[in-house]
Order: sequence, then structure tokens, then C-alpha cells
Amino acid sequence: MSLTGIKHSVRLLSLAQLRKLDEWLHELIRRAEESERARRLPSHKETMAERSLDNKTYRLESIRCGKENCKCARGKLHGPYWYSYTSVEDKVTSQYIGKSLHKALENRIRGQDLRPE
Ligand SMILES: [Zn+2]
Repeated sequence: MSLTGIKHSVRLLSLAQLRKLDEWLHELIRRAEESERARRLPSHKETMAERSLDNKTYRLESIRCGKENCKCARGKLHGPYWYSYTSVEDKVTSQYIGKSLHKALENRIRGQDLRPE
């Protein structure tokens, strides 16, 4: 079965048949997209490092986005990227920072580590 052959046959259809085919195709595509979404791998995070400062937790994370054909599905994860986590009244919000922490922040975290117990 070739697409060229199908296209050739489709040209012979009446307008009413073309409309029906169009409708049917849309439905077919919608279902195919739906099942592709369902096949997605669960997204996943791996924590590479963790720091705490001012009620915030900073985590360096490698991410698997969940797309089946992505490089991360074969083990090459995205990142690692830094995220900050803040919990306010049982709710945890996360914020994307980037590949590295801001210098000032990093210095403060390092200074904290050096503080005597
Ligand atoms: Zn990915």
C-alpha cells in the first residue's frame, strides 16, 4: 500500500465521499495522537545535589521529560538544572533556576557550610 496509490484513488471520490473521508481521517489522527500520549514514559527526576538556605531547598536535577523518542528515554537525561523548592503552608512550589546557581547564592551556601556547628 503506497500513499501515492491512495491519493490516486481519493481523487476519484465524490465531494460527499471526500467530506466523509476527511471527517474519518480527523478522528483517526485524534485517536492516534491520544494513544501516542498514553505511550509516553513517566517523567522522572534524579537529584544530583541538594543545598538548603533560607527555608529553600536547592536541588540539582537531571530530568527525563517522558517523550518516547527523546534522547532522555535512552538514558541521556536533560540537565542537570538547578531548581529551588519553597514550602509555604504544606504547599511546595518549585522554580527553575538554570545550569548553575547565581554566584552570590553559591557563596552564601558555601559560607553556611563553613560556619562552625
Ligand atoms: Zn527528553
